[in-house]
This record gives sequence, structure tokens and C-alpha cells, in this order.
Amino acid sequence: MKHDWRSAIRRLIFSLALAFVVGWSLDCLAFAIMVTLAVYLGWHLRQLHKLQQWLTTRDVEEPPTSHGLWGSIFDDVYRLQRRQEKSKNKLKAMLKRVQDSTAALKDGVLMVDSSGNLEWWNQAANTLLGLQSAKDIGQPITNLVRHPDFKAYFENTKYDAPLEMVSPINHNATLEFHITLFGKKDRLIVCRDVSHLHQLEAMRQDFVANASHELRTPLTVISGYLETFIDYQDTLPPRWGRALKQMHEQSQRMQNLINDLLILSRLETSQGPEHSRVAISPLLNALVADAKSLSGEKHHTITLECEDIDLLGIDTELSSAFGNLIFNAVKYTPENGEISVKWWQDSSGMHLEVKDNGLGIDPKHIPRLTERFYRADPSRHSDTGGTGLGLAIVKHTLLRHDGHLHISSQLGKGSSFTCHFPISRKFTKPQVSNG
Ligand code: ADP
Repeated sequence: MKHDWRSAIRRLIFSLALAFVVGWSLDCLAFAIMVTLAVYLGWHLRQLHKLQQWLTTRDVEEPPTSHGLWGSIFDDVYRLQRRQEKSKNKLKAMLKRVQDSTAALKDGVLMVDSSGNLEWWNQAANTLLGLQSAKDIGQPITNLVRHPDFKAYFENTKYDAPLEMVSPINHNATLEFHITLFGKKDRLIVCRDVSHLHQLEAMRQDFVANASHELRTPLTVISGYLETFIDYQDTLPPRWGRALKQMHEQSQRMQNLINDLLILSRLETSQGPEHSRVAISPLLNALVADAKSLSGEKHHTITLECEDIDLLGIDTELSSAFGNLIFNAVKYTPENGEISVKWWQDSSGMHLEVKDNGLGIDPKHIPRLTERFYRADPSRHSDTGGTGLGLAIVKHTLLRHDGHLHISSQLGKGSSFTCHFPISRKFTKPQVSNG
């Protein structure tokens, strides 16, 4: 390039020198120089014109022929264009490969921009959500997947847990949505068909419900006969007394277990009766009275503070859930301990707190306490007669009432179990119009 630049200057000096000699000899010096400069300028303008014409063609074509400085400019631009074209093709191929691989996925993948409009999606998303290629591009995703649960999940921007819901196009299928935020509030949505997992879960629940149901009758019979034998204990050989007592206790435990399993499977599988007004104050008064008689010789101090607020829900379920918490406090609090039950409302909703100063729980167990059969300290349970299902029942009952359970505890100091309900669950008397 440097060389071309020098020869261009040399050529200009040579042309001007020639013009000078010719102009001098013909006595028209100024005219000769002007003509030479005009020719020189004209040639350059023509090269510029060629360059502009060539650059405006869409495809990469061979450069126009030229020599000297312009020739090497054309060659350099051509080389740059080729290099750019090559990397563009490479990127295109990579993008196509990524698109082909996501298109081949069985899970639906959708890209949604920061305004919530659909940008791109794969073939599986078409099948799972019934999208139509050309028509749906740029449409708000909440218009395409029309479901209040999806709308709430999408707008919530906290995507720790996936969302499961019935497919918008096939009521027999269940879909799971997972949203990941990227870029400037853009979203990547992955959706998959989890119907088969649901069927398996339903089979498991049916099995537990059927097995518990089938076991209930024989156990009631066995337990009934054992009670009769205990009543006639005096007529039996003395060494049978202890054995009968133990058999009766164990059959009682099994009955409690089966009852709790049936309650749990009902909570998981059925909708239950319609939600209606549940008067919490009399419910808690009755439970606290039962707790006092359960406490018996342990002489706990059990107090109840209760605001007059009613809930919208199912009374039998709430009574069993609250009962589990209150009776647990009695079971896990040593003699002369204190237990308080409090029901109140504030701006964030309604709350039931059951607090004791009993054995307490090591914080490492707290996240797993509501799992079925999870025991914080198995050595404690031989004498409590618990089933290990109480807190699982509480959790499922609260889920059905849009609530959640918060547990805080310190080993040796006591525990506090709080059920939180949203304000929408408060029962308000329907307005009676006078007109
Ligand atoms: P269980 O029938 O064994 O009481 P739960 O599901 O009701 O089963 O409770 C699970 C575990 O949580 C219990 O086994 C016990 O270790 C612990 N727990 C529950 N409530 C309390 C409490 N008030 N104080 C101490 N530990 C408790």
C-alpha cells in the first residue's frame, strides 16, 4: 500500500512535469497544467464511482479492475469482505445448529422478550401449546397460554419452583413450566409434558388409599376382640395380661396410622367439600379443652388468645391440622411446661401460632419436618404414640387453604409453629342490600 501511494505521487509529479514541458514549449503552460490536473482528477473520480457501485452490490463480487493505489484499495476491501462473509456464514451455521438441536428437543422451548412477547419457539412448543408459527410471533405469551396460574407465575418473576398445570389444549395432559431470566428481563421458558409422572403419582396415591382402606376393617375387628379379651382378663391365665395390653396398644397405633394415611390421601386426591365459614374461636376452644385433658398429669399451663375472625375453609380439615399442632405441643413439652395458642389478624393476613417451651427441635431438622414419617429424634417417639404424619397433614391442609406453615425452634428451649393465611381467606358476611 505504501509502495502504491509513493508511485501514485510519482505519477502525479511525472504528469505535471510533462505538462510543464509541453506547456512551456507551446507557450500555454497554465492550460497544459490545468488539463493534466483535470484528467488526473477525472480518473480518480471514476475510480471512486467504480468503488461506490461495487460496494452497493449486495453479494460479494469480484472487485472492479484497476491498478496502482486504487487497485490495492479494491483488493483490500475485497479481502475484508470475504473475511466478514466467512465469519457470517460460520455464525449462521452455528445458529442453525443450535436451532436444529433445540427444535429436536422433546421439551418445548420458548424465548420471550422483556415486554412479554413471543420471539422464538421450537416445534415441540407448537405441539404442547398449540402455537401457530407465523401468526403467533410477537404476541404476548399470556394471550397464547391463557391460564390464570400461568399468568400469575409468569408475572411473578420469582421462578425458584416450576409451575404445573393442565395443558391449555388437552385437558388430559399436565404440563410443567420452568422460566429462566436472561439478558434484560428476557425469559426462556421450558415446558414439558409430565402426564406420565402424574399418572404414577396418582397410582401411588390410589394404592396407599386402597391399602389403608382395606386394612381398616380387619384391624377394627382385631382391636375389638382384643378389647373384649382385656375386659375378661381376670378369667385368663395371668401372663396373658401384659401381652394383650401390648397387642391392644399396637393395634391402636396401627389404626391411628391408617386413619392419618387416609386423611392424607384424601387431602392429596379429592377437592373436599365446598369451603364455607369456619368459626375459629369455638374450634380452638374445643381443641384447647381436649389438649388440657390430654395433658392430664403433666400439668401444662395452656393459654388461648383468640380474635373473633372467621376463615373460609373446611372445618374438619382445619380442626385436624390445628389439633395436630396443639397435641404435638402437649406431647413434646415436659411436665409443668407452658403452651400458648394465639389466633390473630394483621395487615399480612391471619395467623395461628402454637408455642411451647418444651423439648424443641434441632434447626437442621426443620426443613424436613413436614415430610411423611420424618422424625427429628426417633428416640422420643416410643412413648408419644405419634404416627409421623401429623405435620404432613398440616402442610397439605394449609396448601388447600392457600396458607403455609412456618416453624421456628431451639433445641431444649421450645418451638413455635405458625400457620399463615392470606387475607383473601377471611370470611366476611355477604352484604344484604336494603333495596
Ligand atoms: P409425630 O406423629 O411423630 O408427632 P409429626 O409429623 O406430628 O409426627 O411431627 C414430626 C416430628 O416433629 C415429630 O416426630 C417431632 O420430632 C417433631 N415435633 C413436632 N412438634 C413438635 C413440638 N411441638 N416440639 C418438639 N418437636 C416437635
